[in-house]
Amino acid sequence: AGLGSNDKALRARAEAVIPGGMYGHQSVALLPDDYPQYFARAEGARMWDVDGRGYLDFMCAYGPNLFGYGHPEINAAFVRQMETADALTGPTARMVELAEAFVGMVSHADWAMFCKNGTDATSMAMVVARAHTRRKTIVLAKGAYHGSAPWCTPRPAGVTAEDRAHQIFCSYNDIASLEEAVAKAGDDLAAIFAAPFKHDAFIDQSLPDAAYARRARELCDQTGALLVVDDVRAGLRVARDCSWSTVGVKPDLSTWGKCIANGHPISALLGSEIARGAASHVFVTGSYWFQAAPMAAALTTLRLVRETDYLERIERLGARLRTGLHERASAAGFSLRQTGPVTMPLFLFDDDPDMRKGFAWSSAMLQRGIYVHPWHNMFLCAAMTDGDIDETLNAAEGAFKHLKGVAGGLGPVEKLAFLTA
Ligand code: PMP
Repeated sequence: AGLGSNDKALRARAEAVIPGGMYGHQSVALLPDDYPQYFARAEGARMWDVDGRGYLDFMCAYGPNLFGYGHPEINAAFVRQMETADALTGPTARMVELAEAFVGMVSHADWAMFCKNGTDATSMAMVVARAHTRRKTIVLAKGAYHGSAPWCTPRPAGVTAEDRAHQIFCSYNDIASLEEAVAKAGDDLAAIFAAPFKHDAFIDQSLPDAAYARRARELCDQTGALLVVDDVRAGLRVARDCSWSTVGVKPDLSTWGKCIANGHPISALLGSEIARGAASHVFVTGSYWFQAAPMAAALTTLRLVRETDYLERIERLGARLRTGLHERASAAGFSLRQTGPVTMPLFLFDDDPDMRKGFAWSSAMLQRGIYVHPWHNMFLCAAMTDGDIDETLNAAEGAFKHLKGVAGGLGPVEKLAFLTA
């Protein structure tokens, strides 16, 4: 169907006043040409673009939407708090209540600090680990995303070598490479950073190998370094606890963001007793970090996390989606790799190095009212229903059929040429 006229008009205006037309992870520059850039409305599991087309949204705002867009109870808590007290000269009681709620829910956590974005939390984790150990080096997995600050942004523009100093990279789930990185750090290891599972873009996801997680824990115990799990993306979609609770490993620090207030702006650094001293000595703050309204929204979100079966439901829906897609892909003669937890799936086609099949299939899904992502992990939300999964599977059947018809004639995806260069 192509782009709608309102979307086209906004893009043209943005060209003049927004650098590059759009920036960051919400830019559609690397998506199929017919993906809308601008949206007008959302409710539950659905969103509508500025041309009035509705989609069942499997991106969930890249994570923040856990219980459904515009969730009435969460938004009511937000609005009520906003009307009483939000950004003041000092925090409200909501801050203590929220820290108590996190400490009560996340088994490794003895304290909590709040900020706005995931990058705030991961940067604070790095600073706390360095303050605690009085060492500099951090070990990270190659290709893992921990945010957009100079120390962790995936793009080199504007970043100096000094910004990236004292970092050693290993391969996720590869114990030997982790040991090698830690050995290289010598007596200067401040922290090992770990994603809860490998959720890099453009490639298959991998669940954490328990032995790798345990080895990371051991290496930190032996060296006195802190273990950091970056749960900004996966938090609350894998467990009602830190995601590495699923492999029996407790970090010293964990970082949270995205869905903890169902889309309202707040993120968190949680820590265990050992790091409390350092966390109380570093200077970290922000004008909006103490806002009460997002904290009220987070309190309600965490209550729903504790009191509802949202996780079991999205796991069940995710499992249905995975099985159903597998059947429909196979029936059409395609091999679709679905990786990661069923609540955060990523789909890649076999024999599709430049993603031409993935692009064509995703476009065909979009045309059928289902918003999927061709190379980033997706997110399920608790507002999705069995009917939504049925609708998705029906759309998928049509999209696979369409792909079968056009597959032979697809050209390379120019905008993803870097993948095969
Ligand atoms: N860590 C991880 C694992 C993330 O997925 C993200 C965001 N995609 C971040 C950190 C950074 O979060 P933010 O964009 O809110 O700064």
